[in-house]
Amino acid sequence: MEMEMRSISDRDIGTDITPPLTPFSFSLHNTHLHTHCSSCFSLITPIIPTTNHSHSTFYCSPHCSTSHSPIHLSSAERHLPSSINSSLLRTALRLLLLHHTTSLFPRINHLLTNRLLLTCQNDDVNETIRLGAHAMATAIANHRGGGSGGFSEPYDNAVLEKSTDALCAVLTNAVEVHDNEGCAVGIAVFEPAFSWINHSCSPNACYRFSFSSSSLLSQESKFLIAPFTRNSQQPQIDCGVSGSSSEFAQGVLLLRFIFVNGKFQYEPQFVVFQECLQLRPITSSLIMGWRICGPRLIVRSIKRIKKGEEVTVAYTDLLQPKALRQSELWSKYRFLCCCKRCTSLPFTYVDHALQEISVLYGDSSGLRTNYKFFRDMADRRLTDSIEDAISEYLSVGDSLSCCEKLEKILTEGLDEQLEENEEKSHYKFILHPLHHLSLNSYTTLASAYKVRACDLSSGDFEIDSNQSESKAFDLSRTSTAYFLLLASGVHHLFNSESSLIASVANFWVGAGESLLTLTKSSGWSSKFVNFDLVLSNIASDTKFECSKCSLMDRFRDSILNGKIKSEDFENVSNEFIHCVSDITHKVWNFLVYGCHFLKSCKDPISFSWLMSIKNSVDVGANDIKTDMCYTHEPENSIGVSDELAYTDHTVAHILQLGRHCLTYGGLLAFVCYGPNSHLVSHVQNILARENNFLFSL
Ligand SMILES: [Zn+2]
Ligand SMILES: [Zn+2]
Ligand SMILES: [Zn+2]
Repeated sequence: MEMEMRSISDRDIGTDITPPLTPFSFSLHNTHLHTHCSSCFSLITPIIPTTNHSHSTFYCSPHCSTSHSPIHLSSAERHLPSSINSSLLRTALRLLLLHHTTSLFPRINHLLTNRLLLTCQNDDVNETIRLGAHAMATAIANHRGGGSGGFSEPYDNAVLEKSTDALCAVLTNAVEVHDNEGCAVGIAVFEPAFSWINHSCSPNACYRFSFSSSSLLSQESKFLIAPFTRNSQQPQIDCGVSGSSSEFAQGVLLLRFIFVNGKFQYEPQFVVFQECLQLRPITSSLIMGWRICGPRLIVRSIKRIKKGEEVTVAYTDLLQPKALRQSELWSKYRFLCCCKRCTSLPFTYVDHALQEISVLYGDSSGLRTNYKFFRDMADRRLTDSIEDAISEYLSVGDSLSCCEKLEKILTEGLDEQLEENEEKSHYKFILHPLHHLSLNSYTTLASAYKVRACDLSSGDFEIDSNQSESKAFDLSRTSTAYFLLLASGVHHLFNSESSLIASVANFWVGAGESLLTLTKSSGWSSKFVNFDLVLSNIASDTKFECSKCSLMDRFRDSILNGKIKSEDFENVSNEFIHCVSDITHKVWNFLVYGCHFLKSCKDPISFSWLMSIKNSVDVGANDIKTDMCYTHEPENSIGVSDELAYTDHTVAHILQLGRHCLTYGGLLAFVCYGPNSHLVSHVQNILARENNFLFSL
């Protein structure tokens, strides 16, 4: 049975379309077991694990401990061998526990699974499931037998079957839970209202996590989506349960949610985890003071959604080209995506840009016949070199060598001697500036340059401090330029694919922060003699508001009103891009000073220099035109006189640019994550600090 969720009314962008949903089952990743609370996922003082405790659970409060430890103690997870004790198996065992406890529900809590497809091939996935289910079944048998793990109790086939079912349900339905900093701390399986939402590579909704432990009774927001099956044309009445435990007993509060009269309703029930499992109705006095454990999830619209339209979210990174998305979706979930973006022919502009490799020179007539072969070959080699450089940086930490390697690949591309018809031809393949590997490189370069700048200014080198300050300044402005290029590059793609909004939000905030940090660098006075004078003028000279756009007002209004209309959002986006383009023209040469690759990016905001590529989109892969090659200007196009490209207004411009980027990032974050989200408050805090900074000058 194929399920989908549809909107029950017309919705504008930036609307929460579900209340906070509770997980059926969840678990921290092993790497976070000693740093986060196993119940609410909040940070705790790290606990140094002893061998006995390597997979234990820790809690932030007695409250979390009483809520969650019954699940931990009853689910048999303590009997998993430590070599295979993973978040995946713990989540599956906890899901199974809930299922056992409420055997009145036929399928595992009405979750759909891809068990048949997941286990039909002899591959890694199948092997993981086979071994995992065996370990689960053994653990359950040991748990029941009261064994302390010395030797394994035998298990019967029914237990193995249920274990396999639970494991497949987790593989099909679990989502990574990200903390406020965006770090993946664990996984969770949510109730069907979320799990039935299908994937699209151009989704109209996104989701966020909430870690606050508000009480059960505060769930006021409504479901604005309803289940739908293609077979019956009728919304199905379906129910599920979700777990949470009491302060009083080894029990769990189950929220049975039912779909009646076009609405989801919760029906709380109480389950006691004992040998004979009992289910009894719960009185409201018992609910008082109870808290649901686990992270909550809220679905929010990022596009306008019409009544009856299917609501979709992304199961994969949308900044990947089609082939990578499809292979990830297949290996993880066993389906081929047939969304509009995936079925578009020719490829959508975004998918074209994300995978485009240009032939900088060489005889393209030879390439014409074998274009796909050569392009794939070039793609493989470029992918390998870039991934090698990035993973070497992550393991060895040599930021200088990483910057050099990546910039060499970005600037020079791949030189190849190719043999065709017994003749050797020389080709040069270069990544499109918005190729997904280029975008990954910008992210790494922005952080590697930042690390180099910090190392230099914090290190106690025996060199002239003025000189090292000046060098650190150069490194941080290069880092800033990469942040800006990344944000504006992805924004350029966002113009054609509005579901990239969450990525763009993060990148603009990153660029804004980096620009504002640059304005406060101590390196200015070491480089520019008149800097102190400039700084003293800024306070009076630069008003916090921009006279040319309403961005700041719009941001403030949206947070106050808790909503923004899509027309207003479009208007303010246009104003923003005008302002940012204006200011960037004035400072780009200054920011890219000293970086050969960045100098080749003529205009990071309008990307007009990419137009020749855009025009060739419809040409199709079999017909290469020479205009697919974009030109790199000769090195000396920026004269020596521009060496520093510095004027008395440079700092003020960078400050203005930084505020624009940050505020716009905040507005996008508001649309994706809501007014109370971590990213929005982060932006608000920086803006408030900025204000104080200016007043204190
Ligand atoms: Zn906690
Ligand atoms: Zn798709
Ligand atoms: Zn403006």
